[in-house]
Amino acid sequence: MNYEELRKDMVEYQLIRRGIKDRKVIEAFLKVPREEFVPEEMKKNAYEDGPLPIGEGQTISQPYIVALMTEALQLSGKEKVLEVGTGSGYQSAILAEIGCEVFSIERIPTLAERAKKTLEKLGYSVKIKVGDGTIGWEEFAPYDRIIVTAAGPRIPPSLIKQLSENGKLIMPVGDLFSQDLILITKKRGKIVEENLGGCQFVPLKGKEGWEE
Ligand code: SAH
Repeated sequence: MNYEELRKDMVEYQLIRRGIKDRKVIEAFLKVPREEFVPEEMKKNAYEDGPLPIGEGQTISQPYIVALMTEALQLSGKEKVLEVGTGSGYQSAILAEIGCEVFSIERIPTLAERAKKTLEKLGYSVKIKVGDGTIGWEEFAPYDRIIVTAAGPRIPPSLIKQLSENGKLIMPVGDLFSQDLILITKKRGKIVEENLGGCQFVPLKGKEGWEE
């Protein structure tokens, strides 16, 4: 399987032709080997235009959605970023490849462990912890950017608190079946909200998410 060829096609057809423009995002997608973030038997499907199962009932998000959310964060590459929902670690790798300092929280220990191994093997330095990301990660707050990759009923107040001034947070908000991607920016303590359209994510569980 020529993964490099598949990766280039994915970037061209799934990202660029759908409007992804940020060079930093495109370069990162050309570099990060997505096949390393899926189970062995899924490697051949790694560059398909959709989410894929990664075990424990969870999924690695569709490449386009990862790109859309990353682009919406308007990264320079110097930001400190908090991710809620490490999953496979793919989104963390994209952020680290862009240059960000990445902190990521995952509630399922086996997934956190596997993501940690994959990221280490590829040389990405990402701080991962097992826990409930809906309460954030106080120790390293504030964050310039926060990305939540599971869908909740509302944006957890702790996350808004841990966002820095001029910071941006993106998260799918809605019910268990359909959600909207919500982007918020903190400006002089106030919250400006933007709706980027419909999406479908696995549920965010925990204190400020859905019941476990
Ligand atoms: N960003 C991931 C996508 C993972 S899917 C990737 O690139 O592969 C969403 C993940 O969020 C799942 O692994 C799920 O276990 C996790 N999750 C759900 N609720 C959570 C919570 N409260 N805190 C941390 N992780 C959570």
